[in-house]
Amino acid sequence: MLTSQMVKDMAREAGADLCGIASMDRFEGAPKQQDPRYIFPDAKALIVLAFRIPRGYLRGIEEGTYFMSYTGMGYGHLNLVQMPVTLREVCCRIEDHGYEAAPIPNMHCGASISFITQKETPERSRPVREGLPFPDVMPDFRIMAFAAGLGEIGYSKMFLTPEFGPSQRLVALLTDAPLEPDPLFEGKICDRCMRCAAECSGKAISTTETDSVTVAGRKIEWGKLDIIKCSIAYRGGNPDYNPFFQPTHKPDQFEGQYTGGPEIFKAMNYGSVEGHNPALEGARGCMRACMIHLEEKGVLTKKFENPFRRKKAWKMTPLGSDGWRGVLPNQDANLTDRE
Ligand code: SF4
Repeated sequence: MLTSQMVKDMAREAGADLCGIASMDRFEGAPKQQDPRYIFPDAKALIVLAFRIPRGYLRGIEEGTYFMSYTGMGYGHLNLVQMPVTLREVCCRIEDHGYEAAPIPNMHCGASISFITQKETPERSRPVREGLPFPDVMPDFRIMAFAAGLGEIGYSKMFLTPEFGPSQRLVALLTDAPLEPDPLFEGKICDRCMRCAAECSGKAISTTETDSVTVAGRKIEWGKLDIIKCSIAYRGGNPDYNPFFQPTHKPDQFEGQYTGGPEIFKAMNYGSVEGHNPALEGARGCMRACMIHLEEKGVLTKKFENPFRRKKAWKMTPLGSDGWRGVLPNQDANLTDRE
C-alpha cells in the first residue's frame, strides 16, 4: 500500500527538498478557475513539492557582479528543468503503485486568467462542457503549499517555509492514491517587519492595503501587490538597481507595460533565460530582504555560518554625462546604506 511517507521519501530521492500533502476538501470554496479538483476530479490528495533556491544563487546580485545564476538557475532552470524532471519521476513512481498521478508544473500559458486583472479571459478559451472552468485551470502554488502544510504566506505574498523562508519554488501533483494529509502549518514565520515592502525596488507591495483569502477555514492575508510594478521591477525596471539599464530609456516609459512590453526588453539589455524574463532585481525585497531578516532573527532551520549581507547594499550612482548610471574605472563606487 502506498503511504504518505513513501511518497515523501520518493520526492526527496527525486530531488525535492520538501513535500507536503493536502486533502482535497481543503479546496472547498476555491475560485473555479483556480480549483485543482477540476484538473483531476477523482483525486484524493494533492502533493506539493518545494525546491530550495540555494542562497548562493543570489550572491552575484548581492555583490552586483554576476546576475546569471539567479536569473538562470534560480528561476528559469528550476521551473523548466529541475522541477519537471523531479515531478515526472514522482508521478512515474506513484503510477508504478497503480495510482494515477497528474502533474501541475510551475508553468502557465495565461490562456484562462489574465496575469494583470486575475479575471477570466473568455476571448482566449472556452469550457469543453457546461459548468466546467475555462482551460487551463490555474491553481495558485502558494495556496496549494499552504493547504499541504508546508508553511505560510508572508506579507510579501511570498510563500514562507520554516526551513528556507521565502527561498523556494513549488510544483504539485494530484493523485487518486488515498494518502494521509499533513496538518496545516501552525507556526508563525512572518512578523510583519515590512522589510519586503521597503526594499522592493518597484514599491509593488502596499504597506497600507491588504488582500486576503480563506483556505481550509484559515484566513490568509498579505500586502496588496501591484503586479505590473512587480513585473517591471523584478526584471530590472528600476535603473537604481540595474547596471545593464540602457541610457536611452527612462523608467516612466514602462508605465502600464507588462510581460512582453518591447520597451522593457530594450532597456534591460539582458536576454531571457530558459524562456523566462531576466530577474535582474534579484528579488530584492520579497526574497533577499525577507531572507536576511528571517536569518537574523534565527527562525529558519536552515542555518549558515556567515550572514548573507556582509557590506552595505549597492545602489547605482545618478546619471553620468554619458547617460549611464554607475561608475567607470577609477571612479568611486557609491555604496549606500540599506533603505
Ligand atoms: S520581509 Fe518581513 S513582512 Fe515581509 S514577508 Fe518577510 S517577514 Fe513578512
